Amino acid sequence: DAETLWRQDRDHFIHPFTDFSQFHDKGCEMITDSDGIYVEDVHGNRFIDGIAGLWCVNVGHGRREIAQAMADQASRMAYFSTFNNLSNAPASQLAAKLAELAPAHLNHVFYTCGGSTANDATIRLVHYYFNRLGKPNKKRILSRRNAYHGTTYLAASLTGIESNNWSFDTLSELVTHLSEANLYRRPEGMSESEYCDHLVNELEAHIAKIGADNIAAFIAEPIMGAGGVLMAPRGYHKRIQAVCRANDILYIADEVVTGFGRLGHFFASEAVFETQPDIINIAKGLSSGYSPLGASLISDELYAVLGTPQCKGGVLSTGFTYSGHPVSCAAALKNIEIMEREDICANVREVGPYLEQSLKSLSHHTTVGDVRGSNFMMCLENVADKATGELLPVEARVGDRVAEEAQKRGLIIRPVGHLNVISPTLIWSRETVDTAVTILDEALSATTASLKRDGF
Ligand code: PLP
Repeated sequence: DAETLWRQDRDHFIHPFTDFSQFHDKGCEMITDSDGIYVEDVHGNRFIDGIAGLWCVNVGHGRREIAQAMADQASRMAYFSTFNNLSNAPASQLAAKLAELAPAHLNHVFYTCGGSTANDATIRLVHYYFNRLGKPNKKRILSRRNAYHGTTYLAASLTGIESNNWSFDTLSELVTHLSEANLYRRPEGMSESEYCDHLVNELEAHIAKIGADNIAAFIAEPIMGAGGVLMAPRGYHKRIQAVCRANDILYIADEVVTGFGRLGHFFASEAVFETQPDIINIAKGLSSGYSPLGASLISDELYAVLGTPQCKGGVLSTGFTYSGHPVSCAAALKNIEIMEREDICANVREVGPYLEQSLKSLSHHTTVGDVRGSNFMMCLENVADKATGELLPVEARVGDRVAEEAQKRGLIIRPVGHLNVISPTLIWSRETVDTAVTILDEALSATTASLKRDGF
């Protein structure tokens, strides 16, 4: 029953990234069922899922076809190694499908267990690549403050969110964090294009300082997700990539969130940001979360050095027991089939701008400082003072308050500090947007009232 489940959870389940003190007495929301745009808790309460699980259930919940494809594969051959000369059909078919969907120069797939492991493996791969080229000093990776690239030790080191890493030693000799690209909080008085120049200059200055011969790669999310859906100035990614190219620095796009339709395309790098990354990392929407899976898509140019028969005398010594897991790959193949059949990217391109515009209509609330994002990747930034952008004190728990008020009214959104992220399943219609935005409108009013009541 619900009570037993709650106790089992509280006493034994260590939740990721969780402040246990907050949930010890209240218990957790036990999600037991799901269908389409909805999830349901153990008490039978139904919610609109405004976070797609965790930016991942892109095709929506309860897709029997995916469950069936996984069951068929698991009954036939649930697992076997893919090391050396062994392989399986779903992994091979999915690799070919990804090569077809990805930008033309990305034709090779390295499978991982999720996003962190994709980013982690990528760094090893990049180091291996430069070693093979006789450039062993090219080791340093450039990332950005407030980037989120995952939570293995190496991926956590790439991550630039201070609150994530305060209790760990990150690999600072390996990773440099440049400024975040955050249009909303750019230095005062700078225009968008001046801000872009400023960020590009910072990169160039850093390369000049430590030397291109010591830098292997630059890694970036096209839109920074967990760091707060931070939007870069127009043209930023393209210019950063050009600087990387000119300095023999590889460009890695972390599309774990932006990939698989969230911005209206299977891959946002080329279609939206006009970049041609050397590597694109994906996870989450790749299998819509029905089974864990991640992948790095590798360019022909890199592969020519890493993997051809001419490259004797070395092995890329990285990989996982579950690299190319047949059940996860079967889930991803069916997920992609559904995305193509229902043209889910077209739905995002149609409904996404409507979601943006509808959320922007909430800007009149006194606590809403910024509404930003693109298509199905959106965020509200809550503030104390709209004019200055000054924040409310942490104890006000404003992000939690808004999320709690929304949840009471049947919508789950995600609090991230003082922010609220809205990253729905990609099957929302305009009507769903209307319902969700009405709930948010009420939740924001209730939050303003409760903040006032509590003296904030
Ligand atoms: N990269 C980005 C941009 C992410 O948002 C995430 C997870 O949220 C990751 C990597 C890590 O993926 P995973 O949690 O599957 O390891």
